[in-house]
Amino acid sequence: MELLIDKINIILLITIILNFILGLIIYFNGRNKRINKIYVWNIFHIISWVVAMILFRSATAENNLFWCIILYITPTFIASSFLCFTYIFPSQIKKNLRCKMLVIFFINLFLVILIAIPGIIIKEVNIRPAMEKKIIFGPLYFLYFFYISCYFSYGFIRLFRKYLHSVKNERIQIIYLSFGYALSTNLAFATNLIMPWIGYFFLNWLGQIFTGFMVAFTAYAIVAHRLMDIKFVLRRSSVYLTSLSTILLLAISAQYISTTFFPNSATWINVLILILAVSFFPIMKNRYYHFANKYFFTSLYDSKKVIADLSDKLRSTLKAEKIYKYLSETFINSFHTKAVGILIQDKQINQDKKGEGQYILQYNKGFNIGKSKVFPGNEKLCHLFTKHNESIITEELKHSSYAKHSGIKKTIDLLTKFGVEIVTPLNVKNQTIGLIILGQKESGDMYNNEDLSVLKIIGAQAAIAIENALLYEETKNFAVKLKKEVQKATENLKNANKQLRKLDAAKSDFISIASHQLRTPLTVIKGYISMMIEGNFGKLTKEELGSLKKVYESNERLIQLVEDLLNISRIESGKLQFDFQETRLEEVVKSVAEELVGSARQKGLRLAYKKPDQPLPMVKIDGEKIRYVVLNLIDNAIKYTKRGSIVVNLRLGMKYIYFCVIDTGIGISEEDSPNLFKKFSRGKNISIVHPEGTGMGLYVGRMMIKAHQGKIWAESEGENRGSKFCFRLPVSHNA
Ligand code: ADP
Repeated sequence: MELLIDKINIILLITIILNFILGLIIYFNGRNKRINKIYVWNIFHIISWVVAMILFRSATAENNLFWCIILYITPTFIASSFLCFTYIFPSQIKKNLRCKMLVIFFINLFLVILIAIPGIIIKEVNIRPAMEKKIIFGPLYFLYFFYISCYFSYGFIRLFRKYLHSVKNERIQIIYLSFGYALSTNLAFATNLIMPWIGYFFLNWLGQIFTGFMVAFTAYAIVAHRLMDIKFVLRRSSVYLTSLSTILLLAISAQYISTTFFPNSATWINVLILILAVSFFPIMKNRYYHFANKYFFTSLYDSKKVIADLSDKLRSTLKAEKIYKYLSETFINSFHTKAVGILIQDKQINQDKKGEGQYILQYNKGFNIGKSKVFPGNEKLCHLFTKHNESIITEELKHSSYAKHSGIKKTIDLLTKFGVEIVTPLNVKNQTIGLIILGQKESGDMYNNEDLSVLKIIGAQAAIAIENALLYEETKNFAVKLKKEVQKATENLKNANKQLRKLDAAKSDFISIASHQLRTPLTVIKGYISMMIEGNFGKLTKEELGSLKKVYESNERLIQLVEDLLNISRIESGKLQFDFQETRLEEVVKSVAEELVGSARQKGLRLAYKKPDQPLPMVKIDGEKIRYVVLNLIDNAIKYTKRGSIVVNLRLGMKYIYFCVIDTGIGISEEDSPNLFKKFSRGKNISIVHPEGTGMGLYVGRMMIKAHQGKIWAESEGENRGSKFCFRLPVSHNA
């Protein structure tokens, strides 16, 4: 049997090639998916049908009937595989599918047997010169007709029912696929089933050619509407085929030229051409790929490049606004989306409500949202986002089981109102910190699976970048806030300090005035008591004298107290006057020591003054003030010593004259030691030993020694181990 090469057969051959390419693409993109497998199975039968037509048209008298039978068997498989396909396209709903498919297959088998037995459905084939062959049908041809019509009609009814229950994208897919199939099957029905039945055979090859419609519509649905998710493969395979044919064309031309001009060396030139063709193929393919990307598939993009470019940009900034801008640019340039929005969760509110909270629109380009910036969250949706970390397509959400939930329904209404097609979560460590919302694509296409996976990666990267930026901003704001707070606190402190100074000054003034007023009467009292003790007002009895001496001592203490208070107030107001004179220090010390020998003796203590080894130089001091300090130190030593001795000594050093009082008294505890020279400070338990102290003596003493450029200090080995109080004055002090 020779193959008939006429125009019709060539067109049929082209139909085979088109179907074959479509089948190949679908098969290689999803050989594991049932939907792809069944669709390819269907295409396989279509191809067989077209092949059967070519062979039938080429057949001779002996095998005419055989090919005619094959020609009528193949459509039964097309019908049954189409029906099976409608069960799982666009998505599978029924569970006991295997059983249904088996029924379909057995009915099909029964029919195949009927066709295969000549005389029942097909009787014979008559060759007519210059005309299409005439087929004589058997009595049960109507059964065949009925079978094909039923399978296809039922298939379309199934698709229509699915259409009613599908979401947007699936609906579009169903429309394209059904339209392509309906066009092909209707025309095939007319030309291949009905017309031959009533005796017209001249167009019975047209049905096969009409399958081209099915191919075209399916291809469009693949490209524009994510049909079986093979857009990407289509792009790649078309580039592959184009580059292959270019290389083949070049190779054949080169071979033709070489055999024409160098007929003798054709073999090695052929080898060379082969090597060149093989090595140039990848280069050519890459070139075509870039070219096609740029000019033909503008709505397609190189996802790796998009992601890499964006992550470079994200790494370059810590400003949230910039990150939002980069994201928006990426979506607009790659997806050609009409609108981009970025919402960030309001953290403070969410802390209380655990995930529900509010979203604040931080970036908007293209959404007609008006002035509203705050949008309510939804706990269930938020849970979905964090759990699955997937984008949610509004249209799919609308038809999902979640849509019944009243909260989600509100969200869906909101998303639909603003034209949000897709919502991608910005997840960081199982927490959704925000959302990316995208509007429709410029082309009206749906977001395909490639877009979704790109969105997932971008979402993860953006989430971290945004979180970092927000943290940075928070820290920055915190620093500014802190600075302001510190400034405010400092200001308050300054004011308080001013206030305190004023109060302190007022207090000092008060003390000064009060002391002056006290001092005069106290001195008067002192004078009179002295006169009375001396007997100027008549002789006194022993008791009277004893009582008067006590009054005198108390008056003395009062005078001392007033003197101390006056000194403190003068020191603090800077009014303490010094009268520096060349003075012999040992004389001052000696006189004080002699003055206090009596009171020491009264307490049973031995007070010894150790003269310096060598005569001391004169020093320029305020004798009165230094006397006060020396008196105070020796007096303290007597006061705080129960038994033992007190030694007072003077010594000349290199630059200073040292004065020390060493006693065997109560000593100084570690706790008291740092506070000794502070104003009004007394030892912790000192009031038990000596209740009358004021804690002013050492403070005033320190201030006075300081005014002489000297230093005062205390040493002790601890409680009850005695103490040593010293000061030093510079020899060459010239105040
Ligand atoms: P006052 O003696 O009136 O308490 P001072 O300013 O003279 O005030 O002394 C302050 C404190 O220093 C005393 O309360 C006491 O605790 C301690 N102090 C002073 N001199 C001695 C000393 N010689 N031995 C032990 N403690 C002393």
